[in-house]
Amino acid sequence: MRLLSVEDEPDLLASLSQALREDGYAVDTAVVGDDGLFKAQNTHYDAVLLDVMLPGLDGWMVLQRLRKTHKTPVLMLTARDASRDRVRGLDTGADDYVVKPFDLQELLARLRALIRRAVGQTRSCLEIHEVQIDMSTRLVRRSGVLVELTAREYALVEFLALHRGTVVTRTTLYEHLFDEDDNTLSNLLDVHVSNVRKKLGHEFIVTRRGHGYCIE
Ligand code: CA
Repeated sequence: MRLLSVEDEPDLLASLSQALREDGYAVDTAVVGDDGLFKAQNTHYDAVLLDVMLPGLDGWMVLQRLRKTHKTPVLMLTARDASRDRVRGLDTGADDYVVKPFDLQELLARLRALIRRAVGQTRSCLEIHEVQIDMSTRLVRRSGVLVELTAREYALVEFLALHRGTVVTRTTLYEHLFDEDDNTLSNLLDVHVSNVRKKLGHEFIVTRRGHGYCIE
């Protein structure tokens, strides 16, 4: 899953980005509203974390303009005790919010729920053939046995699982699994796919020649 984090406080942006990456997300960043809006309009993010107080375009203006063309899930970061802000945010089209200073675990849980809802998935556990994926703990089991996946392998499995039954193109996978700072060779995706197949079974991810990958 690829996120955009728009936040003008450098320390918070850095620590948040690090925490999100440790949780397996690809993360792009922006420190001013205009740049955030541009990126959000030009990349298919799975969710946007949007601070309200930003220099230039503030969070409200970014959200308002983004909503004219995009349904990207948006989690607003609002100031403490600003309940009017929260009402305004939800009215403007924010999908959820957290109050600063936020609890990181709560933010991550809300983010997961937001992304699941966006693809019409309400439960946090998925079962596909003999593979169980728990998206709240990010643990994957095969026939009840825990399988160790790297962060990228998990991200690949989760993305394909949430879109199961549809063929996901390589381009889409690159867009959602890697961020603007990733400098990966084009064949790296094949390595991840191959590793997942070794761990979860060769038929788990199906290759559709010329089209992409699919979990059926
Ligand atoms: Ca701010």
